[in-house]
Amino acid sequence: MTEEKPDYSKTVLLPRTDFPLKAGLAEREPKQLKAWEEQGIYKKLRALRKGAPKWILHDGPPFANGDIHMGTALNKTLKDVSVRYKSMRGFDAPYVPGWDCHGMPIEFKVLKDWPKDGPAKTPSEIRKRCRAEAEKWVARQKEEFKRLGVWGDFDAPYMTMSKEFEAHQLDAYWELVRKGQIYRDLKPVYWCTHDQTALAEAELEYQDALSDAVHVKFELAASSAEKLGLAPGKSFFLIWTTTPWTLPANIAIAANADFDYAAYAVEGEAWVLAKGLAAKAFSLMNREEAPAVLWEGKGRELEGLSYQPFLLGGLKDPAKHHRVALAPYVTLDAGTGLVHTAPGHGADDYVTGMRYGLEVYCPVDGAGRYVDSVGEDRLKGLKVSDPNTNLAVMALLTERGMLAHHEKLSHSYPHCWRCKHPIIFRATEQWFMSLEKNGLREKTLAEVAKVQWVNAWGADRMANMMKDRADWCISRQRSWGVPIYMFYCACGNWHFDEACYKQARGIVEKEGSDAWFVDARRFLPAGARCSQCGSADLKPGTDTIDVWFDSGSSHLAVLEARPELQWPADLYLEGSDQYRGWFQSSMLVAVGARGAAPYKAVASHGWVLDAKGHAMHKSAGNAIDPLQVMKAYGADIIRLWAASQDFMDDDRISEDILKRQAESYRKLRNTLRWLLGSLEGFEPAHDSLAIEDLKPIDRWLLAEAEAMLGRVGKAMDSLSYYQAVSELLQFSSTQLSGLAVDIHKDTLYTLARRDPARLSAQTALYRCLQVLVRCLAPILPFTAEEAWSAMPAAWRGGVESVHLASWPEAQPGLADAGLAEDFSLLFGAVRPVVTKQLEEERAAKRIGHPYDAEVVLAPHSKALYKLLSRHEQSLAQYFVVSKVSLEPAAPRDGKELAPEEVRITVSQQPKCERCWRHIEDVGSHAGHPGLCGRCVQAIAQ
Ligand SMILES: [Zn+2]
Ligand SMILES: [Zn+2]
Ligand SMILES: [Zn+2]
Repeated sequence: MTEEKPDYSKTVLLPRTDFPLKAGLAEREPKQLKAWEEQGIYKKLRALRKGAPKWILHDGPPFANGDIHMGTALNKTLKDVSVRYKSMRGFDAPYVPGWDCHGMPIEFKVLKDWPKDGPAKTPSEIRKRCRAEAEKWVARQKEEFKRLGVWGDFDAPYMTMSKEFEAHQLDAYWELVRKGQIYRDLKPVYWCTHDQTALAEAELEYQDALSDAVHVKFELAASSAEKLGLAPGKSFFLIWTTTPWTLPANIAIAANADFDYAAYAVEGEAWVLAKGLAAKAFSLMNREEAPAVLWEGKGRELEGLSYQPFLLGGLKDPAKHHRVALAPYVTLDAGTGLVHTAPGHGADDYVTGMRYGLEVYCPVDGAGRYVDSVGEDRLKGLKVSDPNTNLAVMALLTERGMLAHHEKLSHSYPHCWRCKHPIIFRATEQWFMSLEKNGLREKTLAEVAKVQWVNAWGADRMANMMKDRADWCISRQRSWGVPIYMFYCACGNWHFDEACYKQARGIVEKEGSDAWFVDARRFLPAGARCSQCGSADLKPGTDTIDVWFDSGSSHLAVLEARPELQWPADLYLEGSDQYRGWFQSSMLVAVGARGAAPYKAVASHGWVLDAKGHAMHKSAGNAIDPLQVMKAYGADIIRLWAASQDFMDDDRISEDILKRQAESYRKLRNTLRWLLGSLEGFEPAHDSLAIEDLKPIDRWLLAEAEAMLGRVGKAMDSLSYYQAVSELLQFSSTQLSGLAVDIHKDTLYTLARRDPARLSAQTALYRCLQVLVRCLAPILPFTAEEAWSAMPAAWRGGVESVHLASWPEAQPGLADAGLAEDFSLLFGAVRPVVTKQLEEERAAKRIGHPYDAEVVLAPHSKALYKLLSRHEQSLAQYFVVSKVSLEPAAPRDGKELAPEEVRITVSQQPKCERCWRHIEDVGSHAGHPGLCGRCVQAIAQ
């Protein structure tokens, strides 16, 4: 006769949830995006937060050319995490994405792709094609950002080429013109001869280049030589330069007033240079390092001495040039302490030229060629960037006995960011924004000091840049940009007054700045006359404004102009290259037009590099394409990576790093799934226990969750998202997956559904789930929403999306210092010792399941014995064994935390068929011979 064993498996409450183990993000996320769109969640959030205090992150507009890359993905993710977090914190935090649409990259591409049989390249035609090109990329990047889970007003983004934007930018421009901040001047500017336009500092890239370094002798005029007691006709100033092609523009030599100079006897001649550089210079020229000194004196004694020019060229008043000037920037770093000075080709030179009333002389045209009046027929028309031009200049110097030495020198030289050609410094008439007028530089520095620079070094970097920077050259000689609205009169005056502004405002508002390129005369109000000479013959200027002025006005054109936003922004968050770019241009426009900074706080992130710290290049094969990553892993994996970076440093990414992120994600997902499943059927309103009715382990879990929540909130507030991620992952893997899952399995699976111990566990786990899902929402919006959707309506409090929910409220009452201390010893010191021995027993095959074991603890510390006694009834549960007994503390009162002795024996008790524990009372219950008393009770309910 065989007895059929009853099947108890159906009476066990195993976790149940629809939240799948396998993420399948690549397929799931696009569906989620569609659902959000259909539900109008972003709009619902706006309605929900209406009237709440605003928190505005102002988007730095990416250029509308090309697909997004890892750097853009990092930037947009960090912004999105910030905005979502502040929204959950109860702020009204709308995000208006923007695009920088004008500028050379697009114009360059359009001109390159111009069809052979296409229309003439008029500004209007160029602009039409540029606009279409920009529109194409805005549409594409928009979808890419959305795919990344970036939330915002994508139906109404800001674009610097839109009429509305251009109209508000015109307001800012007029405000600056009105205040006299904008002026026109002949000044040396960075100039790309290839693109034939002025460039801003931010448009330069420094690369090593091989230059011709030359030592050149300028003969002292006879009277000047005599003044120093030197022989006329045989005495020379020795200068050093790495740009021989600028020598035709030489009109002065600069010396430092305080340096010691000397005339040295060299082959029957006298060479004048700084004493501090003499040994170095002579050694470089392979000469005797300490020739005899014929004269010595301070630099100030040289001031005004004159010398024979190299070329006279088209100088208007040659008689007052070719003298020694004094300048503080002359250093003893390199050269000879006598600096070749050409105000038409250098910023410092220009300043010196201004002080001495010298001509801003520049014999080089826009294409980078010597003009006909350069002063030497053999140089006419030569392109200065052509290496042969330096050779031609050196040949001339040699003919005239002026070349003392020549060598090749590798040094860092600015190149055009767009076409990669080396740039030159060239004097042209340009529009500038003055940093001196109205004390703009000082006001800006005062505003910089008020801003909260999240990167500790940000304040210094910005302040130093503002201290040192030259006036802002805002004009460009291109077609694809906002015009510099100005009219030129033959008398030399430039005209743009309030009437012009009003006229322009009306047109730009309706038609955009395109109208200027069709017929700029419409921008002149009827009866306009030159303010200087009264002439009505005013001609429109042809310059466009630096695109950094476009984006630099965005705070006015977007934050100030849109009712849902506010000025100034709470946060600007961009790559660290923006200290010299957008952070700076925005600051200058804001202080110039409004007298205050456009942002309250600024944070910057580093570059995205490969695992070894190298820049990513398609050609190097180390580039990671975010669009591919989203296809392979999903957007939440990129976001997890982005948020895990200590972003103020450089950020590393590689296939391996992504795989590790995916693994962290998988573990986190498992924990979420277990929580959802274990809480199945839990009704918070009905089943939650009061804190005082909870088991100690559950009170501890709540206290841990509370402490974690506090740290996560702090980290999020300080933009240390990586710390928040680390806290969340740590809590998920340690307190939950490592302890709670293990310890509570028995409670959750085998006790009766409404057993107080089971409800106690669920009360704590429910709070953990809520905290975890909500804290993850800004970082992993897709996964958090998926978990939210897997919750019954009652858990969601009727809120349809986690992104409409609030950040978990702190519950200070949950903290429990005493419990924290007990459990840190129990789980930090005792449990690992027990677990380790159990593993050894299992490895030695003395036990199978830990429930086969009984544990005896015999601590040698009284304190530990007391602590263990307090939890004696629960120790078997905590260690997941069938029984734990305590033996009194041994007489020694040692300080050790772990029990000195752990004895493990194989349980001799019968095993319960349902809960697998070995318990004495198994077999003593009528009708259930294989069950323990607890299980008999459980199945009876
Ligand atoms: Zn260029
Ligand atoms: Zn005039
Ligand atoms: Zn049992």
